[in-house]
Order: sequence, then structure tokens, then C-alpha cells
Amino acid sequence: MNPTLDYRVQPLSPEAHVFAVELRISPPPAGDLILTLPAWIPGSYLIRNFARHLIRLLAGDPEGDLPLEKRDKQTWTLAHRGLPVAIRWQVYAWDVSVRGAFLDDRRGYFNGPALFLGVRGLEGLPCRVEIQPPQGPAYADWRLATSLRPLAAEPFGFGTYQADDYEDLIDHPVEMGIFSLIPFHVLGVPHWLTLTGRHRADEARLQADLSRICTTQAALFGELPLDRYLFMAQVTADGYGGLEHRFSTSLLCAREELPALGMGQPTPGYQRFLGLCSHEYFHLWHVKRIRPRAFLEQGLEREVHTRLLWVFEGITSYYDDLALVRSGCIDEAAYLGLLAEAITRVLRTPGRLVQTLAESSFDAWTKFYQPDENSPNTLVSYYAKGALVALALDLTIRRDTAGTRSLDDVMRALWERHGRTGVGLEERGFEALAMAVTGLDLGDFFHQALDSTEDLDLAPLLAEMGIGLRLRAARHGKDFGGLAPSATEAASETPVDAEGGPGVPARSQSQSPSPADVQRQAQAEAPTPSLGLRLKPEGNEPVIATVFTGGPAQAAGLAPGDILVALDGLRISRDNLDKLLLAAGEGAEVEIHAFRRDEIQVRRARLAPAPLDTCELWLLADAPPQAQTRRAAWLGGQDRAVSVADAAKG
Ligand SMILES: [Zn+2]
Repeated sequence: MNPTLDYRVQPLSPEAHVFAVELRISPPPAGDLILTLPAWIPGSYLIRNFARHLIRLLAGDPEGDLPLEKRDKQTWTLAHRGLPVAIRWQVYAWDVSVRGAFLDDRRGYFNGPALFLGVRGLEGLPCRVEIQPPQGPAYADWRLATSLRPLAAEPFGFGTYQADDYEDLIDHPVEMGIFSLIPFHVLGVPHWLTLTGRHRADEARLQADLSRICTTQAALFGELPLDRYLFMAQVTADGYGGLEHRFSTSLLCAREELPALGMGQPTPGYQRFLGLCSHEYFHLWHVKRIRPRAFLEQGLEREVHTRLLWVFEGITSYYDDLALVRSGCIDEAAYLGLLAEAITRVLRTPGRLVQTLAESSFDAWTKFYQPDENSPNTLVSYYAKGALVALALDLTIRRDTAGTRSLDDVMRALWERHGRTGVGLEERGFEALAMAVTGLDLGDFFHQALDSTEDLDLAPLLAEMGIGLRLRAARHGKDFGGLAPSATEAASETPVDAEGGPGVPARSQSQSPSPADVQRQAQAEAPTPSLGLRLKPEGNEPVIATVFTGGPAQAAGLAPGDILVALDGLRISRDNLDKLLLAAGEGAEVEIHAFRRDEIQVRRARLAPAPLDTCELWLLADAPPQAQTRRAAWLGGQDRAVSVADAAKG
């Protein structure tokens, strides 16, 4: 007879931020029980050692206490007498992120890996979990949100829930407190968004936009493999983040990113929020059900390495914003703006010339998830560059199959072979599948994209879609690139063009800028010369965050942590550094005073030309009709969404 596993969670002490947890095993299997807590949470590739927050672990049976022996940082052995066993412990919960546990008198939240000890050998058994509210009249209005299946609980109520096995148990974060509840349906399946924290969001707008985005994602894969889904968002002043689960996602968002009543076109903040929701929802197929083989074979005790994180995070990052335009939540112009910013982010990462995408994936645990002051010089994000590789792959497939295949077809095949079946994806499996589905030899493409540090050549691929691309210097500190209405309009911002003053006819809209144009324009805009460093974004003082490899600051001997004091005798502040550099001019040798710890240093630096690391995209007015057709097939997708929605109803 299999033992029954019953967990109970009680928010014991909101003011001390402590959950009490109990596990009853009845009857326990013969032999010692080995209890263990995960070291990491799926989807976030960092050893978090959840066991460090575990306190007062005790065990007993009807005859009395039972001895527990600690074996390592997260594992205990329990000897027992064959009688039903109860194990009790407490968990300190003061982590506002989407990865741990939190409890105060306003809100409770937890992820299973932070709370639930598992029993080795019994991980495959179903279990029950009773979740209680905090004690006291102050908590009478609290509700509970989770995608766990209820056994004896009202919808959004406290009570008993059930899980198929330990993996299922720890894949449903739980929110408790007072929250807004926004229901909607996708292909007939009930979905909800909960918003915890103060807000004045337009709930009808959220309902409409999320349902469009989710429908678009489901249309891509051709099916929605679940019977319920929950978005759980915590609203804060400036938070951002999300973690994917099979039936839900935990989100952290900034209050101003939520849509206000009467908002027209989505603001950049709301686009970011929708992009985050879209991203986590895409993961319900891609990484939660289609999974790297390494994740299936290894547990949560230690790091699991795979070179495939670019597939799971990069491709997801590509489709998150793409779904916004395909679903009609944003228009083509807004999408190109987002794409230009994504290209700019990668171009401003010198580490892209040092680390390959495959290496970035493999070393996520110790590098991407543990960034330091030198990371921009040595790392590339498998999210950001991975998304550009997905873009280049999609456009390459569309071009080389004359539009008969796309990355969408590869994703559907991936779902058929690895999602529906649960067969893990081999380390080189994605590449092989992409070639099989498209009939293309993509060997060179993947070699360059994954195993080299060569930049991707996106301009010709985008030109096939009737989209122009140019790189220019940043105009100011908050210039992240974006949409240029047209090549001409971008150029007309030039105060006095070398081609002539006011009254000179504008260049034909159809013309792409030549390299000479770009050069001339870059000069005319008088971009800020480069000192080759980045300041810390926080604090009042101008403190160096990163010194870029090979730049003027490094040559001058400046280092991360140095506090800039003066440039040519004039005080440097966080706000005026660009102005001082501009006044000195490109090529100038400047004297810089800076503190290293408490010692003043005097350095001389020669200012470099501003790098052309800012991307602008625009719609080519003279693109042939075929390019517009190709672009519509790429950015459209509404027709397919509708047909799949209809099929699902039938
Ligand atoms: Zn992700």
C-alpha cells in the first residue's frame, strides 16, 4: 500500500514572516526516510539554497519524538518505528521576488521549492496540501489564488488542494491576501489574472488584451494543453520579473505599467507588461512541457547544465513581443520600435564579442545569474542575443523557403515531438529539427549564431521584409534606439546637413542611407564622445559601474567603483557628464579627478568617437509588394488565430 502524503501550510506568524509546514506520512515505507529541499527553483538558474530559511525541523509519531539526522545543507535522515509520521518545520519568508516565499500582515506568497520538503523515493506519489489562512479577525477577507487543483476548497478559497506528484506540488505558487480577480477565457479555457497591491488598472482592457495575446500563442502551437491558467501579478512601485509554471505564472510589475482607464495606444510601460505576460505564457509550452533532456534527467539538488537556454529563453523572448503585434495589441510601428531597442541592447554589450550563445546558456548559473562589474565585457544575454538569433532564423527560413516555412513550423514540430510526448530535447536537437522541418541546411547559420561571436547580419534579412535598418550614435543618455518614421525623417533631425541648409529638397523616402550618409549624419548630430564607461544607475554620486574593455577610461586607469570628481577642473555630476564630454569634443585629451576608495587620483584620457551602437528601423516606402506580403505573413497571423480558435470550438 502506498503511503499517503499530507502537507499542511499555516501562515503562523505574519509579523515574524514565518510559515509553519507539516508533512504527515501514513504509513511510512520501510527503512529510513530521506527528506530534502530543492537547491533551486525551475526557471531560475541560480543555486538559492532554500533550506537556509528552514527552522525548527522536528519529527514524531504517536509514541513520541523521532530523531532527525542532518546529512548535508538540504537533506535529513529520519529513522521511524513504522507508525504514521508527522514532520513539522517553519520557513522564514521575506523574499518579495517571484522565486521564494513572503509573508506579512498584508500578503502571503510562496513557491513550493521554498516550503515543501520532499521524500526521496516517494516523489512520484500524489499528495494533498491543506492551506490555512492566518489566525485572527484581521484576515477574514483574505482569499487564496493558486493553480493547484482543489480537493476541498471553494474557488479562490483556503482549504485542501491536491497534486499529482512532488514535481506538480512545487509548480503552483500560492498567493494569499486581498487581490483583484480578473477572469477571461482563451479557447473556452478559464483564465484569471490576479493583481495584488494598490492599483487603478483598467481591468476590462487587461482582460481583452491578455485574451488576444493568449489566443495568438495558442494558435501558434495549435493547441492549449490545459484546463485552467492563472496570471498572478504583484503590483509594486518599480518591480519587474516573472517566473513560468505549467498552469500559472508569478509576475512582478510596476504600478505605472498597468493600463489606466482611457489609455489609447499602449504606453511603453504597458507594452512591457504585456510582453512579460506573453513571455511567461509562451513558456507553458516551451520549457514547461517541451524541456531540455538534461532537466528531465537531473533533479533540483545542484546545477543542471544545458547549452539550450537560448532556445528556451531566446526564442520565447522573440515570440513574446511578436505576439503583441500578431494579436493586434500593438501596431507594426510599435513592434519595430521594440525590435530596434532589442538590437541596440545587444550592440551595447561588448561581451557579445567574447562569449558565444551556447556558452552563455551553459554558464548561466555562475555568469548570467551572478553578474558583476565586468559582466558587460565578458557576457552576452541568452535572452537578448537569443531573441535576435530567433529573428534571424525565422527570416532566413522565410527567405530560403520562399515563404512556405517559418520558425512557427519548427515550433509546432517541437511541440508535436517533445511537448505532447514529454520526450526531452537533446542538446543539438533543436538544430536538427529546424533543418528537418524546413529542408534547409542551416549548419552554417547555427555555427555562426551559437558557436561564434560574429554579429548577425540582420539588415539584409529585414530588407526582404521591407524594413530598413541603420546604426547611429546615441543622442543622449536615454536613447535606446527605436522606430525612425523613415530614413528621411531620421536624417531631417540633423540641424544643418552637409548637403545643404533649409530649403534643400529632402532625399527620396525610398533611399536607404549610404555608409557616407550615416557617417555624415553621425558627425552633424555631434554625438557625445565616449569615455568608455557606464555609471551606476542608482545613488547621487557619479560612480563607475563598468569600464569597457579597450576604451579610453580603461586606458586611463579608471576602474569600477571609482567616484568621478572633475573633468578638466569642472565638477562631474551624474547628470552633466555627457555635457562635459560634448564640450571637450571627440579626440580631446582630458584630465579626470576621481576617488578610488578615499584616495584622489588624477588620470588623463583621450575621448573616443561615439560608437554607432544605436539601432533605428523604419518601413521602406518603396518596398516591392512581395516584401509587404512577406511582412504581413510574418507580423500578421490573425487569420490563423481565428481558424484555430474555430477548430478548437468544433
Ligand atoms: Zn523566460
